Amino acid sequence: MSFKELGIQDAFTEILLQNGIGEPTPIQKETIPVILEGQDVVGQAQTGTGKTLAFVLPLLQKIDSERDEIQGLIVAPTRELAIQITAEVRKLTDTNSEINVLAVYGGQDVIAQMHKLQGKVHVVVGTPGRLLDHIRRETIDLSGVSTFVLDEADQMLHIGFLSDIEDIMAKVPASRQTLLFSATMPDEVKKLAETYTKNPRDIQVKTKQITLKEIRQRIVETTDRGKQNDLVQTIRLLRPYLAIIFCRTKRRVSKLNEALQTKGYNSDELHGDLSQAKREDVMRRFRDGEIQFLVATDVAARGLDVEGVTHVFNYDIALDTESYIHRIGRTGRAGGKGLAVTFVAQKDRRLLQMIERETNQKLNVLKLEYM
Ligand code: ADP
Ligand code: MG
Repeated sequence: MSFKELGIQDAFTEILLQNGIGEPTPIQKETIPVILEGQDVVGQAQTGTGKTLAFVLPLLQKIDSERDEIQGLIVAPTRELAIQITAEVRKLTDTNSEINVLAVYGGQDVIAQMHKLQGKVHVVVGTPGRLLDHIRRETIDLSGVSTFVLDEADQMLHIGFLSDIEDIMAKVPASRQTLLFSATMPDEVKKLAETYTKNPRDIQVKTKQITLKEIRQRIVETTDRGKQNDLVQTIRLLRPYLAIIFCRTKRRVSKLNEALQTKGYNSDELHGDLSQAKREDVMRRFRDGEIQFLVATDVAARGLDVEGVTHVFNYDIALDTESYIHRIGRTGRAGGKGLAVTFVAQKDRRLLQMIERETNQKLNVLKLEYM
């Protein structure tokens, strides 16, 4: 089954091919035809399964570039994710279409953004806070929106964006098509979907832990005091190409990053306290391979799709299984092999057992000779 057979135009399939994307993933196969038909969709598939293209392709295909208004609105939980989705849209529209896309997120110059919005913009990708800002200032007109996408809905609610999302939805015509995508479907997301979609097609792709299977997962038994040293030893032996290291708090991120830099490692930090410019700069340098180790908090790294991430280190163990899956999903994206290493001190044992139980697997101790 090809993208063409799903109803995607040659103009797009050609660009996909140039980017090495020929065969649709399961979630793309199931959702694209339904979205093209105009039905609401509630789509669930694990991280790294290609949900972005699943909604971006049909959304773009429905845009009438002659109509001078915002027709597609995509809401994402973080700035990084909004930037990433925007880049994906640009890749598909830059060379061969008149479709214009604008990213709307915090930390940018509001005036410049407003100017851009006066121009011809067909697709807006934004974070809830900044979108609401524009709505309140009446600097954005969403009355022409015919397709509304809520991406990473579980994460959106996790961060506490529910009321923002409701306020945004109220400004989008009721006749719109609504698409909601999520890696997991907790009750709050189901409720949101029930409230805001009309007779949606529920599409769940049970990947039977495809992502998890493609990622080798190991643990390193450690102590709180010995952890930093154990991490350095592990890095030395594994020699990652690009790695993300997760810590529980911003302070722990900064502390560990400093320690790594002092030891001569090429690392930098990503968390919510950095300025927008700094965050973008760090992300760009990591993508370009100028930074080898990205030390990050959960929220900052959520949804990030960076090619070539060979290793994820859970320096601090994830507090729940969802976040464990999200974290390790940063490596081994779309088929590439990855290794996720979780550092486990005595007091982390209970969390480890919970993760093992909920992902139906036993995590083995890292044996360096096999890596
Ligand atoms: P998700 O939103 O489900 O976490 P993404 O949309 O971020 O996943 O996609 C993950 C990665 O897979 C991206 O690098 C994307 O370019 C790639 N990808 C998407 N669709 C395909 C496909 N059909 N074939 C190969 N790679 C794909
Ligand atoms: Mg996604």
